[in-house]
Amino acid sequence: MSKHAHSEAWQNRALLSIPGGVSSPVRAFKAVGGVPRYFVSGAGSRVRDVDGNEYLDLVNSWGPMILGHAHPQVVAAVQEHVSRSFSFGAPHPNEVELAEEITFRVSGLDAVRFVSSGTEAVMTALRLARAWTTRSLIVKFSGCYHGHSDGMLAQAGSGVATLSLPNSPGVTEGQAKDTIVIPYNDVEALREVFATHTGNIAAVITESVPANMGVVPPTPGFTEELFAVAHAAGSLVIFDEVMTGFRVSRSGWWGKYAEPLGLVPDLFTFGKVIGGGFPLAAIGGNSAIMRQLAPEGSVYQAGTLSGNPIATSAGLATLRLCDDNLYATLDSRAQVVQEIISAALTKHGVPHSTQSSGNLFSFFFTEGPVTNFAEAQSQDTRAFAAFFHGLLDHGVSIPPSAFEAWFVSGAITDDDLAHLERAAEPAARAAHAGASRNTLS
Ligand code: PLP
Repeated sequence: MSKHAHSEAWQNRALLSIPGGVSSPVRAFKAVGGVPRYFVSGAGSRVRDVDGNEYLDLVNSWGPMILGHAHPQVVAAVQEHVSRSFSFGAPHPNEVELAEEITFRVSGLDAVRFVSSGTEAVMTALRLARAWTTRSLIVKFSGCYHGHSDGMLAQAGSGVATLSLPNSPGVTEGQAKDTIVIPYNDVEALREVFATHTGNIAAVITESVPANMGVVPPTPGFTEELFAVAHAAGSLVIFDEVMTGFRVSRSGWWGKYAEPLGLVPDLFTFGKVIGGGFPLAAIGGNSAIMRQLAPEGSVYQAGTLSGNPIATSAGLATLRLCDDNLYATLDSRAQVVQEIISAALTKHGVPHSTQSSGNLFSFFFTEGPVTNFAEAQSQDTRAFAAFFHGLLDHGVSIPPSAFEAWFVSGAITDDDLAHLERAAEPAARAAHAGASRNTLS
C-alpha cells in the first residue's frame, strides 16, 4: 500500500464534491503534481497526515502558525472562550483588546476594523481610499497578490499606463479597468502612471515586501519613491501586510523597514498572524480615514462573524507571545533553513537564488537577483517540483509552488534543522535530475 493511500482516497472523494478537491487552489498541488497530503494534526513544528506520516512544517498555514501548531497558551485561550459560545454577533471585549494590541504595536495607525479574510480587508481599504479621495483608480504591482476581489484580479494592459484587463473569467472589463497594473521596482513606470492619470488615482496598493511571487524585496529607494510619488499626487498608500504583519517584526515589515525611514502608510491591511490560525483580518490606518466607516461615517462595511470571540482570542494569545525573543528565533531559524537548502542545491549544481526580507524568504530556481514578476517567471519550475517532492518524501513540507514564501515557526528545534539537512540532500539531487535542461536532453 502506498504511503499516501488515505490522502489519495480523500482526494478522490473530495474531487466529487469540491471543485479541484480543495477550498483554495494552491493546495491542489497543480504546480508540482502528485497527491496533496491531508493533514489531520499538528504539534509545534510538526504536522501529521491522515496516513500517519510526519513532516517538518515550513508552510505553517501560509503564515498564521507563527508559534507552531497547537501552542498550549493559544489552545487554552481558545478553549476558555469556546466553552462560553462561539459567536454573539455583538461587540466583545476581545475585539477591543486585540485592537489595542495592534494600535500599540503599530504606531503608524490609530484605528482598526476586523474582518474575516485578507481579501475583505483589502476590499475595504480600497473602498476607504476611494471614498477619501473621491477618485476611482488604484495602482497595483504585477506579482503582488491582494486577495481575490474582482478589482484585484486584473492584469496589465498593453502599455505601462494603459487600463488593465480581467485576469480571471467572471471579472468584467469595468471592474478591471479601475486597476492599473505596473511592474514592481519600476520607478519610471510609477511616475508615468501618475503623470498620465493626474488627479484620478485614489491609492497605490503594495505588499510591504512582495512575497506572493516569491520574496522580492524593494530595490533601494523604491519604497521611498512610491510614497513620495503617491503623496505628491494626493493619493493614498495602502500597505498590504496580510503576510508580513507581525511576522517580520513585532510591528510588521513596516516597523522594521519603513518606520525608520519615516514612511507612514495611510492604510494597512493585516491577516494571518493576527488570527493565530482562525479566520481574522483587519484594516487599519489614520483615524480620519478609518472613521469614514459606518456607523461613524457613511462608507459601508459589515460582517456577521467579523471580530468573533474565538478568532480574536486566538489572535490575542498569539500576538502576546510574539515578543522580541520570538522574532530573534524566527530570524535565526530562517537564516539556517536558507543556508541548509542553498548548500544542498549548490552541491548538486542546481541554479538557484534565495531572497529574503527579515524571516520571510523564498528560493528561486534561477540565478538571481529577481526584482519583478517577469524575472520570477523565468525560473525552472520543473526543478522546483522535483525538489518539492524530494523534501516531502523525506518528511519536510514546503509550499507547493515555486512562487511562494516559506514560513518558519518559533517551534523549530535543532533536531528539526538536522532533519531538514538530511532531507535536503536527496531533494537537491532530485532537483538536479528533474531540471528542465536534464529532462529535455
Ligand atoms: N494580501 C496578501 C499580501 C496575501 O498574502 C493574501 C493571502 O495570502 C491576501 C491579501 C488575501 O488574504 P486571504 O487569503 O485571507 O483572503
